Amino acid sequence: MTDKTLETLLQAPPPHWVGDGFLVHPLFGPLAFTPAVSPFLMLDWAPPVHFPPSATPRGVGPHPHRGFETVTIVRDGSVDHRDSAGHVDSIGVGDVQWMTAGSGLVHEEFHGRSISEAGGTVSMVQLWVNLPASHKATPPRYQPILARDIPVVPLDGGALRVIAGSWSDEIGGEIRGPAKTFTPLAVWEARLDPGGRFAGPVPAGWSAMVVVLDGAAEVAGRRVTGSQVAVFGRAGERVAATAGGEGAKLLILAGEPIDEPIVAHGPFVMNTRDEIRTAIADYAAGRMGRL
Ligand code: MN
Repeated sequence: MTDKTLETLLQAPPPHWVGDGFLVHPLFGPLAFTPAVSPFLMLDWAPPVHFPPSATPRGVGPHPHRGFETVTIVRDGSVDHRDSAGHVDSIGVGDVQWMTAGSGLVHEEFHGRSISEAGGTVSMVQLWVNLPASHKATPPRYQPILARDIPVVPLDGGALRVIAGSWSDEIGGEIRGPAKTFTPLAVWEARLDPGGRFAGPVPAGWSAMVVVLDGAAEVAGRRVTGSQVAVFGRAGERVAATAGGEGAKLLILAGEPIDEPIVAHGPFVMNTRDEIRTAIADYAAGRMGRL
């Protein structure tokens, strides 16, 4: 099996606030919304921040999305969600919200009530996954994936959560993640002890990225530290990482690229400028629903 080779090592970008609740590092930097990371679009990483009690919940008020999916992984605290398709949910530690905006919806994302009332620490990851043109108009869909429903695979010095896609070991065992996706892709989360090792199969032709959230790891011969992303080329069939002396927390993303034009404008990701104009008009006219 040939290892995929490193194409780009993205440096940790400075953070910015999303609403007043999430201080996020946009980890894909200049490669966000480009073919290099397809089928993924962008990745926001909010490391742990402690918030004091607040009379009103911190977060992001009602806003629309169309043409893609948002995947939210809560790592500390909780996130309360409500959308115009009728989904109301509280996402807890280790849970994953896989939301298909598709034809369009309006939603809000706030800290959980107990964080607002008593104060607390919030940390999360939000990944945007593109939809192929043939599915951009799919009706909104909501997958609340609970931590207890995510399979955990033991590693040589660590553990791996299979959120989406299938993970197979060297002796042919296969574990499938619970998320339903529109195109073939994998989202894995690994915790490595000092010196722990991860090696996973990724089909040739797929894009792949190893994101270091915490700690440090050696990836394709390079030391990759917190908030950096190793972006691989499409050739080769395996990605691997070995944690440094402080251990590492990794997010591994891989998928079949969607080779279609990407036109992104704020919360809308379509294939043409005309479709963006339509999305703006549809939202303004209330055709994505209201909260
Ligand atoms: Mn949103």
